[in-house]
Amino acid sequence: MALTGIQIFKLLPKTNCGECKFPTCLAFAMALASGKAELDACPHVSPDARAELSDASAPPIRQLGVGVGDYEVRIGGETVMFRHEKTFFNKPGLAILITDAMDDAEADRRFAKLSLYQYERVGLTLRPELVALKETGNRERFLNLVKKACGTPYSMILMAYDGALMKEALDIAKEKKPLMYAATQENYEEFGNMAKNYGVPLAVKGEDVEGTATLSGKLTGMGLKDLVLDTGQRSVKDSLYDQISIRRAALINKYKPLGFPTITFPCEMTDNPMKEVLIASTFVAKYAGIIVMSDFEGETLFPLLLQRLNIYTDPQRPMTTKEGIYPINNPDENSPVLVTCNFSLTYFIVSGEIENSRTPSWLCVMDTEGLSVMTAWAAGKFVGDLVGAFMKKCGIIEKVQHKKVIIPGYAAAILGDLEEELPGWEVLVGPREAAHLPAYLRMLK
Ligand code: SF4
Repeated sequence: MALTGIQIFKLLPKTNCGECKFPTCLAFAMALASGKAELDACPHVSPDARAELSDASAPPIRQLGVGVGDYEVRIGGETVMFRHEKTFFNKPGLAILITDAMDDAEADRRFAKLSLYQYERVGLTLRPELVALKETGNRERFLNLVKKACGTPYSMILMAYDGALMKEALDIAKEKKPLMYAATQENYEEFGNMAKNYGVPLAVKGEDVEGTATLSGKLTGMGLKDLVLDTGQRSVKDSLYDQISIRRAALINKYKPLGFPTITFPCEMTDNPMKEVLIASTFVAKYAGIIVMSDFEGETLFPLLLQRLNIYTDPQRPMTTKEGIYPINNPDENSPVLVTCNFSLTYFIVSGEIENSRTPSWLCVMDTEGLSVMTAWAAGKFVGDLVGAFMKKCGIIEKVQHKKVIIPGYAAAILGDLEEELPGWEVLVGPREAAHLPAYLRMLK
């Protein structure tokens, strides 16, 4: 049961030292109770109080990991219904279905898709992470798939209802910390004990929300902590309704049996690949922990990965690039110098266009707190005196023999101030659109 602010306050040192960045212990207690502060912010909590409080301050939806290494998928840990309230933390893992009914060529084709479909975007690698290996009657082939998956870096979901087969699969794959799918009313004791013994997360499959909550309650009673919920619904409407109900029950009603991430199966909701992607995108927004797809195709996977990136980016923290000088196409002391802001998207578009131009150039990226050129200029963060001061201190003066700098066309208004700030320099106004940079740079040669 979650503690109230006053109950938390009673367990704090009550010294009002302010090290937690709150003026008083009471203010900190209230923030902790409402999920707006982390217990670790107070360094003075006694070990006993910490043990009591850590349960109360844990996220209402348990955070857990599936897999190990680079492809580990962290799911759960969410604290808000709507992204704009704070942020969503752990993006849903995307899985491709591989069954024992597929021949070797088809299974290999699907494994290969996880390395084939990887995309660089704003300095991040967007990619799916999981294979969902499903037993449909051919035990030997299923175990071969498990062995094959162990030879890849991908995280895995083991889908089988037979205890003996699941045990054989876990003996092969336990080091990879797979997700067991799934404990049901019929097998939950056997699967629960197995998940505990092997130290792996366990999916719980009920026939509706109530049945799933009952099962998860039984499993937590057995001492299991890392559960993933499947309410068994395979219509889009019912499944979406369940996702929202579970999130509300966990966050608003603090209902522990539903305080776990979920798994959804668009692959079982339609035979139409385009419709399947639309269903998956619905669950990216609300509120799946893992999404299992029947197949991946680049033209539909990429927008899904992009949607996931956007929804799981903190809306209060723009994505930024580190301030500094970026050499592009091996520049030398005669190469042109451009300056721009540190909004990630701006940086990657501008640097990409310079790269395309094949013109050796220096790109100076100034910290504008992640604001784009226009916004930063309007907010007074990309103005003549600041850009001038940045150019003096960033070190570009030591790298080039000329005194010319190209500013973005959208910041043309800073020209006069910048010339005053950088006496002896020639300030050139570049194009407004990055797409016109290659032609502009060629014209300068
Ligand atoms: S750091 Fe701890 S003791 Fe200090 S004010 Fe915050 S809650 Fe109180």
